[in-house]
Amino acid sequence: MGKTPPEKLLIGAHTSAQGGAHNALIEGSEIGATTVQLFTSNQKRWEGKEISDEEVAKFQDILQSTGLSHIMSHDSYLINLGSPKPESLDKSQSAFKEELIRCQKLGLTYLNFHPGAALESTEEECLGKIVESLMSLEDLADKGTTRLLLETTAGQGSCVGWRFEHLAYIINRVHTKIPIGVCIDTCHIFAAGYDIRTKEAWDKTLAEFDKIIGLKHLYAFHVNDSMKPFASRKDRHAPLGQGEIGIECFQVMMTHPLLREIPKYLETPDGPPLWKQEIELLREFAT
Ligand SMILES: [Zn+2]
Ligand SMILES: [Zn+2]
Repeated sequence: MGKTPPEKLLIGAHTSAQGGAHNALIEGSEIGATTVQLFTSNQKRWEGKEISDEEVAKFQDILQSTGLSHIMSHDSYLINLGSPKPESLDKSQSAFKEELIRCQKLGLTYLNFHPGAALESTEEECLGKIVESLMSLEDLADKGTTRLLLETTAGQGSCVGWRFEHLAYIINRVHTKIPIGVCIDTCHIFAAGYDIRTKEAWDKTLAEFDKIIGLKHLYAFHVNDSMKPFASRKDRHAPLGQGEIGIECFQVMMTHPLLREIPKYLETPDGPPLWKQEIELLREFAT
């Protein structure tokens, strides 16, 4: 099998869906992206709006004309599927269900979500709650083609998902029943203590991922450098090559046979003008 030409590789950014989801596709197309991540509703509000048939038609239309694919949604920051508080767990589960319905309606490939935060409970209790939350979606998940992706976290506060073991715990219990996988955020795993600064470091981290979770469960990357040092467990994104990770990591990502073809979404600061340059840079690395 031949390698995908650099211009066809799936590289994009988290673009703005203000005024409608289709606008994220237009912005993506303008910066040379072949895929994008977006919010399907206001990420800081509980009440999500329903997606109208008209919006779906517009989205599909622009998807066709721009040629973008593998569109990913990022869930609301308020959702905690592992909350120990019954009321907030309930709210989170309903909001996540509504999010999945919106994704399915738009025909999105992935729904990326933060696993959850233990707050005053234990990691084990939190992971158990996340599994329960996901299992409650079994029937709904079956109705669409959207795959749920657990995002690796930096391990800030009581957030779970910063150890590969956490993700394996969840995946092992749900993957035969619902479509699930992992999105690696480069800034987050680095902050969590997995080194990816060189080819050797990447190989070691990928071997560990494969041993604990299984590389077949890896579907996507959030591509960010890190303002905070290695193993700091702090989540601050930096432009590629301007953080503690350094540019070599991203060069490796675009040439490594296990990483090159996996869809990649930038969440670096500064927005579209920087993303356009970074997308070009990543494609250059891939040639
Ligand atoms: Zn995220
Ligand atoms: Zn982050």
